[in-house]
Amino acid sequence: MKMHTFRGGIHPPEKKELTEHLSIEVPGSLPKTVSIPVTMGGAANKPLVQAGDDVACGQVIADNTAHPLGVPVHASIAGKVKKIETRLCVTGPEQLCMVIEGDGSGRTAFMPPLDPFKCTREEALKRVHDAGIVGMGGAAFPTHVKLNPPAGKQAEYIIANAAECEPYLTVDKHTMEETPARLIDGLAIVMHSTGASQGIIALEANKTELIPVLEKAIADGGYAGKIEVRLCKTKYPQGGEKSIVKAVLGREIPSGGLPVDVGCVIQNVGTLCAISEAFREGKPLIERALTVSGGGCETPKNIRIPVGTVIADLIPDTIKISPEAVKVISGGPMMGVAMPSGNFPVAKNTSGVLFLTAAETDTRSESPCLGCGKCVSYCSCRLTPVLIVRALKTSDIDAACRFGLMDCVECGSCAYVCPARIPLIQHIRVGKALVRNTRAAQQKKQGGK
Ligand code: SF4
Ligand code: SF4
Repeated sequence: MKMHTFRGGIHPPEKKELTEHLSIEVPGSLPKTVSIPVTMGGAANKPLVQAGDDVACGQVIADNTAHPLGVPVHASIAGKVKKIETRLCVTGPEQLCMVIEGDGSGRTAFMPPLDPFKCTREEALKRVHDAGIVGMGGAAFPTHVKLNPPAGKQAEYIIANAAECEPYLTVDKHTMEETPARLIDGLAIVMHSTGASQGIIALEANKTELIPVLEKAIADGGYAGKIEVRLCKTKYPQGGEKSIVKAVLGREIPSGGLPVDVGCVIQNVGTLCAISEAFREGKPLIERALTVSGGGCETPKNIRIPVGTVIADLIPDTIKISPEAVKVISGGPMMGVAMPSGNFPVAKNTSGVLFLTAAETDTRSESPCLGCGKCVSYCSCRLTPVLIVRALKTSDIDAACRFGLMDCVECGSCAYVCPARIPLIQHIRVGKALVRNTRAAQQKKQGGK
């Protein structure tokens, strides 16, 4: 099979051996309480229930129907709303969460099943919206928006992002291995609802054992010739949208553009499975499979738990942490978010939680730039991180934008290779947030006139 790749990128230690042989398990005993972020991707939601209300599993508890980017949030267990409070989440320190105490009843309020191949396109988009589906592999962007390209744009290809290029994480691998038919069904549904003629499963070369599994599921589903597996070199950030499109199709997403500008829509493996469940079972996105790993975790595993489960509540019964753990990360080590502890709830896009030891963490301090150019050589987006950050340090935002600040995909490869340990990615994230806030304020001002 031909090997596909892209320019730049890095090869951090994979560390997948800790969990790659472990199936996704459902913990025998789950915490009785979940703390569900009221907003998980899209526009800010408003709670629809209040303290004291009884809720069924799958019931909508928060929404923002007025906003095109609004995505509903559902109760992930049946029980009583204990309180609505702000707490630390991956998205920030003061995020509104709905605390539900389970009653063990198992009551559900799922939607009726919907035939994805008989319903209209509008009904299909509404189902994806109503199921609260967001991108489960990254920034939790609303999936119904992604599946509805702007006028004049047409998706030719749906790419199932099966790269899972972040070190440690293996949950997507196991999702594919354990439920390949579900993945193919989700991919076929998205192809049908967008009118795309081809599906591609972009797999990294460290998962070749999945090729026969996926090809059998493709044949069994009757999609031979319409869906194919393409193998990509194992390299970070292979799973980035720009990298994956470049690797499997040789197309360049233009600056400031979207994958659909070059005829592609990209969906994470978990998201595609959630789409299938939303149609076939009427099940909203209320569970999350994730990898728990790292040298500081004595019980590395892949687990499926309700959205809103607080990681600290799984310790020590389900997850045992060693005294050597010095750092907690939500997500992978390259693009994940450092957390002060495990006291945060799992969100729809939490792909992993890592407990790292000092040996797994780079504690060297920053020194002056050596001008070595390594950050430029390894950037898969062909940017000049050193110049972007130099401009940001002097508050020259215009220059930073000219050097491609807003085209940065925040993969962290530049910071990883920088011998001076300059936290390039932190500077870039702050710079991008500044630009976004300034633009939003300008738009608001213009809209108010
Ligand atoms: S500048 Fe952005 S895209 Fe380029 S390597 Fe750094 S983080 Fe990745
Ligand atoms: S890799 Fe680090 S030291 Fe080298 S040019 Fe880039 S910022 Fe400077």
